Amino acid sequence: MNVNCPTCQKSVEWSTTNEYRPFCSKKCQLIDLGEWATESHVISAPTNHSGAHIELDEEAIAAQFEQQSKPFFDES
Ligand SMILES: [Zn+2]
Repeated sequence: MNVNCPTCQKSVEWSTTNEYRPFCSKKCQLIDLGEWATESHVISAPTNHSGAHIELDEEAIAAQFEQQSKPFFDES
């Protein structure tokens, strides 16, 4: 079965092999847990077109930001 990642809404398979379920990735799990800031200290709100400065090693996250305009770090 598939569930939607609570953070990015991406469809992700719910399986025992996915240790981050119901999240699609560790990144999304950390975001949801509010540990993003401690995981990576260099964070600026990513934008789609300019000023993007994302200190992440996963292109998937950047792609997710582009797929949706939902601001994860609206408060920062
Ligand atoms: Zn996700």
